[in-house]
Amino acid sequence: MSDCLFCKICEGKIPAAITYRDDEVLAFKDVNPKAPFHQLVIPIRHVASLATADEKDAALLGKLMLVGARLARESGLADGGFRVVMNAGADAGQSVLHVHLHVLAGRPLAWPPG
Ligand code: 5GP
Ligand code: ZN
Repeated sequence: MSDCLFCKICEGKIPAAITYRDDEVLAFKDVNPKAPFHQLVIPIRHVASLATADEKDAALLGKLMLVGARLARESGLADGGFRVVMNAGADAGQSVLHVHLHVLAGRPLAWPPG
Protein backbone atom coordinates (compact mmCIF):
# COMPACT_ATOMS: atom_id res chain seq x y z
CA MET A 1 0.00 0.00 0.00
CA SER A 2 1.49 3.30 -1.09
CA ASP A 3 0.64 5.27 2.05
CA CYS A 4 1.64 2.57 4.56
CA LEU A 5 4.73 3.26 6.68
CA PHE A 6 5.75 -0.39 6.99
CA CYS A 7 5.19 -1.09 3.28
CA LYS A 8 7.58 1.81 2.64
CA ILE A 9 10.16 0.17 4.94
CA CYS A 10 9.71 -3.10 2.98
CA GLU A 11 10.28 -1.19 -0.26
CA GLY A 12 13.39 0.54 1.10
CA LYS A 13 11.78 3.97 0.82
CA ILE A 14 12.16 4.58 4.56
CA PRO A 15 15.34 3.38 6.28
CA ALA A 16 15.26 0.84 9.09
CA ALA A 17 17.78 -1.30 10.97
CA ILE A 18 16.88 -4.56 9.22
CA THR A 19 17.80 -7.77 11.03
CA TYR A 20 16.13 -10.41 8.84
CA ARG A 21 14.56 -10.60 5.41
CA ASP A 22 13.19 -13.31 3.18
CA ASP A 23 10.53 -13.42 0.47
CA GLU A 24 7.66 -13.15 2.95
CA VAL A 25 8.91 -11.53 6.14
CA LEU A 26 10.98 -8.54 7.24
CA ALA A 27 12.32 -7.82 10.74
CA PHE A 28 13.84 -4.58 11.97
CA LYS A 29 14.64 -2.78 15.21
CA ASP A 30 11.86 -0.71 16.70
CA VAL A 31 12.77 2.98 16.42
CA ASN A 32 11.48 3.62 19.95
CA PRO A 33 12.49 0.48 21.87
CA LYS A 34 10.55 -0.50 25.00
CA ALA A 35 13.17 -3.06 26.07
CA PRO A 36 16.90 -3.62 25.39
CA PHE A 37 15.82 -5.98 22.58
CA HIS A 38 12.79 -4.72 20.67
CA GLN A 39 12.29 -5.79 17.09
CA LEU A 40 9.26 -5.83 14.80
CA VAL A 41 8.54 -8.76 12.49
CA ILE A 42 6.18 -7.94 9.63
CA PRO A 43 4.79 -9.59 6.52
CA ILE A 44 6.07 -8.04 3.28
CA ARG A 45 2.56 -8.41 1.87
CA HIS A 46 0.32 -5.71 3.37
CA VAL A 47 -2.03 -7.15 5.99
CA ALA A 48 -3.68 -4.35 7.95
CA SER A 49 -4.42 -5.97 11.30
CA LEU A 50 -4.87 -9.27 13.08
CA ALA A 51 -8.43 -8.04 13.63
CA THR A 52 -9.19 -8.35 9.90
CA ALA A 53 -6.82 -11.21 8.99
CA ASP A 54 -8.33 -14.47 7.75
CA GLU A 55 -7.46 -18.05 6.81
CA LYS A 56 -5.31 -17.05 3.85
CA ASP A 57 -3.01 -15.22 6.28
CA ALA A 58 -2.63 -18.15 8.69
CA ALA A 59 0.75 -19.47 7.52
CA LEU A 60 2.17 -15.97 7.24
CA LEU A 61 1.07 -15.05 10.77
CA GLY A 62 2.59 -18.27 12.09
CA LYS A 63 5.83 -17.49 10.32
CA LEU A 64 6.07 -14.12 12.09
CA MET A 65 6.10 -16.00 15.40
CA LEU A 66 8.78 -18.44 14.30
CA VAL A 67 11.01 -15.70 12.89
CA GLY A 68 10.56 -13.69 16.10
CA ALA A 69 11.56 -16.66 18.22
CA ARG A 70 14.57 -17.32 16.03
CA LEU A 71 15.75 -13.71 16.33
CA ALA A 72 15.49 -13.93 20.13
CA ARG A 73 17.30 -17.27 20.12
CA GLU A 74 20.09 -16.02 17.86
CA SER A 75 20.60 -13.03 20.16
CA GLY A 76 21.00 -15.38 23.10
CA LEU A 77 17.79 -14.20 24.71
CA ALA A 78 15.56 -17.23 24.41
CA ASP A 79 16.78 -18.93 27.59
CA GLY A 80 16.18 -15.86 29.74
CA GLY A 81 12.81 -15.32 28.12
CA PHE A 82 11.22 -13.08 25.56
CA ARG A 83 7.73 -11.84 24.76
CA VAL A 84 5.87 -11.52 21.47
CA VAL A 85 3.00 -9.04 21.28
CA MET A 86 0.64 -8.13 18.46
CA ASN A 87 -1.54 -5.13 19.16
CA ALA A 88 -4.80 -5.20 17.20
CA GLY A 89 -7.03 -2.16 17.09
CA ALA A 90 -7.09 1.21 18.81
CA ASP A 91 -7.75 0.05 22.38
CA ALA A 92 -4.76 -2.28 22.19
CA GLY A 93 -2.57 0.56 20.96
CA GLN A 94 -2.07 -0.47 17.33
CA SER A 95 -0.63 2.68 15.79
CA VAL A 96 0.54 1.29 12.42
CA LEU A 97 -2.07 -0.45 10.27
CA HIS A 98 0.28 -3.11 8.89
CA VAL A 99 0.49 -6.27 10.98
CA HIS A 100 3.62 -6.36 13.14
CA LEU A 101 4.81 -8.68 15.84
CA HIS A 102 6.76 -7.03 18.64
CA VAL A 103 9.58 -9.16 20.04
CA LEU A 104 10.73 -7.88 23.43
CA ALA A 105 13.52 -9.16 25.65
CA GLY A 106 16.52 -8.21 27.72
CA ARG A 107 14.76 -7.19 30.93
CA PRO A 108 12.09 -8.65 33.20
CA LEU A 109 8.75 -7.97 31.50
CA ALA A 110 5.85 -7.19 33.81
CA TRP A 111 2.53 -9.02 33.58
CA PRO A 112 -0.22 -8.08 33.02
CA PRO A 113 0.72 -5.45 30.45
CA GLY A 114 -0.79 -1.99 30.83
P1 5GP B 1 2.02 -0.51 17.60
O1 5GP B 1 1.86 0.63 18.58
O2 5GP B 1 1.26 -0.24 16.32
O3 5GP B 1 1.74 -1.85 18.18
O4 5GP B 1 3.56 -0.54 17.24
C1 5GP B 1 4.14 0.28 16.27
C2 5GP B 1 5.62 0.30 16.56
O5 5GP B 1 6.29 0.80 15.43
C3 5GP B 1 6.00 1.21 17.74
O6 5GP B 1 6.66 0.42 18.74
C4 5GP B 1 6.89 2.26 17.12
O7 5GP B 1 7.97 2.63 17.95
C5 5GP B 1 7.36 1.60 15.85
N1 5GP B 1 7.61 2.51 14.75
C6 5GP B 1 6.81 3.50 14.33
N2 5GP B 1 7.36 4.14 13.28
C7 5GP B 1 8.53 3.50 13.03
C8 5GP B 1 9.57 3.70 12.05
O8 5GP B 1 9.50 4.58 11.18
N3 5GP B 1 10.64 2.88 12.10
C9 5GP B 1 10.75 1.88 13.04
N4 5GP B 1 11.84 1.14 13.01
N5 5GP B 1 9.79 1.66 13.97
C10 5GP B 1 8.71 2.46 13.96
ZN1 ZN C 1 1.62 -1.96 4.64
